[in-house]
Amino acid sequence: MSVFINTFRLIGIALFVFLYISCMNKKDHVQPEIGEVPVSYKEKFTFLNGDPYLFIFVDKETQLASDYEPQDLVKLKSGHLLRKAAAASLEEMSAAAAAEGLNLIVSSAYRSYNYQVEVYARHVKNMGQAAADRVSARPGHSQHQLGLVIDFGSITNEFANTREGIWMYNNASRFGWSISYPQGYEELTGYSWESWHYRYVGKELAEFIDTYFDGIQHNAFKFLHEVQGNSAIVTDKDFIHALQSGIIKK
Ligand SMILES: [Zn+2]
Repeated sequence: MSVFINTFRLIGIALFVFLYISCMNKKDHVQPEIGEVPVSYKEKFTFLNGDPYLFIFVDKETQLASDYEPQDLVKLKSGHLLRKAAAASLEEMSAAAAAEGLNLIVSSAYRSYNYQVEVYARHVKNMGQAAADRVSARPGHSQHQLGLVIDFGSITNEFANTREGIWMYNNASRFGWSISYPQGYEELTGYSWESWHYRYVGKELAEFIDTYFDGIQHNAFKFLHEVQGNSAIVTDKDFIHALQSGIIKK
C-alpha cells in the first residue's frame, strides 16, 4: 500500500517539476511588448537598407556583372563621369579643401566594363600579366565600374606627400570617402598601395569602416558580404557579436 502511495507522490512531484519547467520556458517565448522588440541590425545600420552598390564587395575574386552600368552618372567639371551622390559629396569635399587653399584634381572616375578591357590589356602588353595584376583590375573586378571611385592627382604615390594627398588621407572619411588600397595591405587587397584611389561609400559607412575595421575598407566590405549570406544573423546582438568575434579575420 505504501509503495502505491509513494509512486503517486513521485508522479505528483514529476508532474509539478514538468509544469514548472514548461512555465519557465514559456516566459522566454512571450511575445515582446512594443518597444521590447529585438532591434534588427538593419535598423541600427541603416546603410544596409540603402543602395547595395555603396558596399558591394569587388576584389580579385568577386566581380561585377559585365553589363552592370550605373544609371545615375553625372558629368563632373573635369569631364569625368561619377554617380550623382558621389558627385555631390565631391563638391562638398572640394569646397572644404578649397577653403584651406587646396585643389583636389580628378584624374579618373567612372570606367565602363569595356573600357577596363582596354586598360587591363594595355597594362598586360606593357608589363606582363603578373605585374599588370598588381596595379590594374581585370574587367568586372574594377571598383571604377561602380561610378563611385575617383583617382586623384598624379595617380602615383607622390600624391601621398602633396598637401592634397595628406588632407585627403586625414579628412576623406568625414565626407564619406574611403581609401581602397592603403599602404601595407597589398597582401590583403591584392593591389599595391594606391594613395590616390578613393571610393565613395557615404558618411555612415565611412564611419562604420573606421569604427569597426580601423579604416580598412576591404575587411569591412568582405564582412558585410559574408554577413548577408549568413541566415543565422538576425538581431543587432547577432550582428555585433559577429563583428566582435570576427566572422572574418581582421
Ligand atoms: Zn583607381
